[in-house]
Amino acid sequence: MESDAKNYSRAAVIGEGKVWLADGDKLPLYDGRWPALFDLGDAVCACRREDLPGDAALTSVELRASYRLLAEEEYEKAAKASELLFWERTVRYCPRCGTALERATNISKKCPQCGAEHFPSPATAIIVLVTDGNGRALLVHARSFKHPFFGLVAGFVETGESAEECVRREVMEETSLRVRDVRYVASQSWPFPFQLMLGFTATAENPEELRFADGELTDGGFYTPDALPPLATPPSLARILIDRWLAAKL
Ligand SMILES: [Zn+2]
Repeated sequence: MESDAKNYSRAAVIGEGKVWLADGDKLPLYDGRWPALFDLGDAVCACRREDLPGDAALTSVELRASYRLLAEEEYEKAAKASELLFWERTVRYCPRCGTALERATNISKKCPQCGAEHFPSPATAIIVLVTDGNGRALLVHARSFKHPFFGLVAGFVETGESAEECVRREVMEETSLRVRDVRYVASQSWPFPFQLMLGFTATAENPEELRFADGELTDGGFYTPDALPPLATPPSLARILIDRWLAAKL
């Protein structure tokens, strides 16, 4: 289906992770004929299924698959729409007083009882490319991965710890490795459903002691660039970190 790549110019996001696509030349998808829950410009809208026009020739795909079908800018808006719909559904009552919240702006709700304002706040997570100091990188497969590819150690930042401390803790908990030289590389909004990923590199001090804890990770090891397993796909930060490591090796 490579011929479909970047063919669509319009997208409607009608539920977390679900995107309806249309070819803008044939169909002006968002023309104000139905209410958009969030205004994201002309090309992308977040709306209800029942609000889509019945005569629309639409293609339904998962949000992640839409990365291949939409221009980068439209994909990013679709991802934002998906996150806003998640927030719309899951943050409905004031955490302070329990009153039903009211929408104030596109990105805020207000409590009519106590006046508290609430903004969408993604969960913060780290992801780390660990090398063994000898030209190999740690690639892992987690039980939660939907596809048979290999990615990187990742985990949520806990209250009271820095992102760097989270890197050291997650790597130790999941792989029994101690890491040094923890360095921040890049961040990424990750809308599955609603996370901010912070990407790091680190070096293992005891690579020979790699051992997966029961539970999250099911496969993996240290790999050289010439013998890689199937890799996580773009636009994941895992793949960006892996590609940077590979580029530096060549
Ligand atoms: Zn309140």
